[in-house]
Amino acid sequence: MLSIGLAMLQGARHEHAEALRGAARELGIDLEIVPCRTASDVVDDLDGLVLPGGESTTMRIASRYESLLNALFDWMERHPQRPVLGTCAGAILMANPEDGRTRFLNVSIDRNAWGRQRQSFEAEVTVMLETPISSKIPVAVASRGASTHHPLEVHSQAAPLLDTGYPGVFIRAPRFDASDLQCTPIAMLGEEVVGVLDGSRLGLTFHPELTLDRRFHRWLLSEATLRGE
Ligand code: GLN
Repeated sequence: MLSIGLAMLQGARHEHAEALRGAARELGIDLEIVPCRTASDVVDDLDGLVLPGGESTTMRIASRYESLLNALFDWMERHPQRPVLGTCAGAILMANPEDGRTRFLNVSIDRNAWGRQRQSFEAEVTVMLETPISSKIPVAVASRGASTHHPLEVHSQAAPLLDTGYPGVFIRAPRFDASDLQCTPIAMLGEEVVGVLDGSRLGLTFHPELTLDRRFHRWLLSEATLRGE
């Protein structure tokens, strides 16, 4: 049984839980999702971690009382081999822990660098990450309303095959700074790096949990299986 911690900081948590369950089904893995709400939930038994998107400032403020963010960062320092998937605000927190710690993703990141909420967009992303199962599974793209926190409506559409690209959903997305990129780019939007891998840490500026293409969640589960210390 694989145990994955899901940081319940704020933002798109439930969609990540759904994506993790879907990925576990695709891989035939027994999965327990551990919602991490307080520092004591961040136990050493976790095999991996998801830091969802949302609003990083709110996350930092909201987690002060319970020291949740600190506990998550401590866990990541204690278990450098175990995989972490940080999406959007999650990637911001990993690239900029802001408390004197060594950054978990060795790259600079600019918040909201694509503009405001209205400038949110969907675009095809090219992924260079080996993920288990790259068979021709048809995918559907999820959509949501203008507000990031409306319940998610998932609709099917004539979707690209997994191998041709990835449906990137960018919501008030941050941008990696290519002039300070000291880890491996694994996802591109044209010339722009939108996903990076630093050891066992994966940071994406888009929202893979809002699509039905589970390859990043499958990556997390398979890395967690391989790298368990
Ligand atoms: N703009 C948000 C921030 O600065 C990130 C957006 C997101 O996670 N969708 O934290």
